[in-house]
Amino acid sequence: MEKRPYVTREQAEEIAKQYPTPFYLYDEAGIRRNAQAVKDAFSWNKGFREYFAVKATPNPSIMKIMLDYDFGFDCSSMSELLLAEAVGAKGEYIMFSSNETPAEEYAKAAELGGIINLDDITHIPFLEEIIGPAFPKTMSCRFNPGGVFTMSNGIMDNPGDSKYGMTKEQLFDAYAQLKDHGVENFGLHAFLASNTVSNEYYPILAAQLFELAKEAHEKLGIHFSFINLSGGVGVPYRPGEEANDIFAIGKGVQEQYEKILVPAGMGDLAIYCEMGRYMLAPYGALITRAIHEKHIYKEYIGVDACAANLMRPAMYGAYHHITVLGKEDAPCDQVYDVVGSLCENNDKFAIDRKLPKIDKGDLLFIHDAGAHGFAMGYNYNGRLWSAELLLCEDGSVKEIRRAQTLQDYFATFDRTEYADKLLGK
Ligand SMILES: *Cc1c(COP(=O)(O)O)cnc(C)c1O
Repeated sequence: MEKRPYVTREQAEEIAKQYPTPFYLYDEAGIRRNAQAVKDAFSWNKGFREYFAVKATPNPSIMKIMLDYDFGFDCSSMSELLLAEAVGAKGEYIMFSSNETPAEEYAKAAELGGIINLDDITHIPFLEEIIGPAFPKTMSCRFNPGGVFTMSNGIMDNPGDSKYGMTKEQLFDAYAQLKDHGVENFGLHAFLASNTVSNEYYPILAAQLFELAKEAHEKLGIHFSFINLSGGVGVPYRPGEEANDIFAIGKGVQEQYEKILVPAGMGDLAIYCEMGRYMLAPYGALITRAIHEKHIYKEYIGVDACAANLMRPAMYGAYHHITVLGKEDAPCDQVYDVVGSLCENNDKFAIDRKLPKIDKGDLLFIHDAGAHGFAMGYNYNGRLWSAELLLCEDGSVKEIRRAQTLQDYFATFDRTEYADKLLGK
């Protein structure tokens, strides 16, 4: 897949006059095009719903767009529940897929009428203490099959090593207990592999979950109303990687549905998913300016963003493609490390990257930062979060989150001794 920025250098410079770099820029047209494609790819399933994983891009203006496609929200913390509530979601539009959950968050999820997806069997008595013995009519459980999860292109992930979900035995036990608590409609959820750039992942996962639901239905006589395929559908971060085809994925799930569920008389089940990355990653970029160049044992370009704005490269060694705006078609005849200002040598957006010659003042477009990008921001070295901007369909730019200020950063210190002084009061 070729990587092309959705703004020109001129546009980005114009935006930078009003909103200093670094900033996040999201592409509304791209988000909408993709959301519609997801909806269309699963339109064969009557109850289909995507629950956008709020943690990927927790911004209400982005979440609001999702509501236009009748999507809901996958939440796993109090602030994510409050964000979902703030944009007007409630009831079955909220999926609460949390783990190690504090009591007050279960209480809030229940108050909103959201669907609670239990990560563990011990959460049943925990929940009973919070909401009493009569549980909501619809509830879900998270499954962990253990072992390793493989697809035809090799080992993908290691569920046996992950903290999430229940064993099969616990799962069946949990369903039986939930039934005693008055639950009538059951859901089954699993998340087995992350960032899968393969059309096989959802269909393989779906087949496993369909078989399991069928068995639980037969053994326990319970009614499943949905299967939640969760997140994990990936995007090609590197140019040349082939993107997932959401229509092939939808069709692959449909084939398993018709093969396994329909003959079992379970053809009324809804398919849910909780994609975050696939919904947003390609439609958000971090735009930063080259402010230094340094020639020592390697060639460095210093930019005004750092890992505090985008942690994935430092945390996972993740690749994010970089385009030097205005030099889209220039030859990549230089080799640079593109680095931020943190006093941490892993603060590198690119290592030994072939790029066109970068001049001080150039704007760099760091691709595929729309999910798990801004959201992972932190304040190490006292570096502040950037603004988030939405490039609207009509070409205008809307500030959907202002940049953090020093005032914000200092505000939580002891008021009497320090905060007032630092804030100049
Ligand atoms: C993180 C997460 C998601 C979203 O994952 P993506 O890889 O961004 O699609 C969905 N569901 C749960 C429970 C998660 O923890």
